[in-house]
Amino acid sequence: MSSILVLPGDGIGPEIVEQALRVLSAAEQRFDLNVELDQALVGGAAYDAEGDPLPESTLAKARAADAILFGAIGGPKWDTIERDKRPERGLLRLRSSLGLFANLRPAILFPQLADASSLKPEVVSGLDILIVRELTGGIYFGQPRGIKEENGERVGFNTYVYSESEMKRIARVAFDLAMQRGKRVCSVDKANVLEVTELWKEVVTEEAKAYPEIELSHMYVDNAAMQLVRAPKQFDVIVTGNLFGDILSDEAAMLTGSIGMLPSASLDENRKGLYEPCHGSAPDIAGQGIANPLATIMSLAMLMRYSLQRGDVADAIESAVEKVLDQGLRTADIYTEGTRKVSTGEMGAAVAEALSHG
Ligand code: NAD
Repeated sequence: MSSILVLPGDGIGPEIVEQALRVLSAAEQRFDLNVELDQALVGGAAYDAEGDPLPESTLAKARAADAILFGAIGGPKWDTIERDKRPERGLLRLRSSLGLFANLRPAILFPQLADASSLKPEVVSGLDILIVRELTGGIYFGQPRGIKEENGERVGFNTYVYSESEMKRIARVAFDLAMQRGKRVCSVDKANVLEVTELWKEVVTEEAKAYPEIELSHMYVDNAAMQLVRAPKQFDVIVTGNLFGDILSDEAAMLTGSIGMLPSASLDENRKGLYEPCHGSAPDIAGQGIANPLATIMSLAMLMRYSLQRGDVADAIESAVEKVLDQGLRTADIYTEGTRKVSTGEMGAAVAEALSHG
């Protein structure tokens, strides 16, 4: 029995999570899946109910679960409350409390949607890359940090720091994942300028010795940013630190055209994970039944693959998504002329139906 905690959150969160749960129940009927579901409040919804965006009860359930399916949090309603109580703080606290240090962001472009990308279809069609970003260290967390007065002016400073053990564990995640894919890893650094990434390059190279089948390459971050828009299909798995990963994963995301199509996972040492769409709570379209649920449905596929070790179920969910795109069904954000515009619920139902029929 595996346990999944569902955290719908705010805005379109509940609408898209509902569709992922529909797909999960179709998966349960088709496969031998033994899943126990629980649900809890997070974000603005939790603040409204309990005065805290991550109540103790939610955190306790998250610690106990094997995996977490997360919708989205936030909205204008909570933008002006005290900083510590804002919905985003709930998510950050959840990630750090659970030690989710490895952020996986696939950028997959279904050939059916190649026109949605700002790049030429032949450059991006069939794109399938995975960015592995270190999520709990690096310059975003390094001490000392701050803004101080020095020689009569203000000086801002941050510390870019990674320990060898932090570098090793993220490298291993990237190598393990690459072994299940194309067996190629590109480690992105700025070793020509920053000592911390000089060490990063050394440590990643040492760790690679345990993976003789992996083809490891290294690239400076400026070149990687350029290569991602020039010839993105050259990559299989990219592994990098928190700051570079933040920027490169957003760049890679845009290659695929719609933010409504992008899933993500954040994993701990034992492959327990939090799975969520890359987008936010989209308050501008919440409650209208037009949000694209596919990023959340594909996050569920990642959950099956990485936390429940059910690659078979993950593959089937992804095939069902592809089948529905082949049928020409599109939510408003990916709609083009000649296709059929459907609602959030119709899209979820179509994927569940396609999954049921195999
Ligand atoms: P957003 O991702 O919510 O929306 C950006 C644009 O993309 C909007 O026009 C929105 O309508 C559209 N969009 C997003 N998801 C979509 C989907 N599934 N289908 C169709 N269209 C979709 O980003 P934002 O507007 O900058 O932020 C809105 C709120 O979400 C803010 O409160 C922000 O703090 C929060 N946020 C939360 C997360 C998270 O929960 N992990 C991430 C980013 C932003």
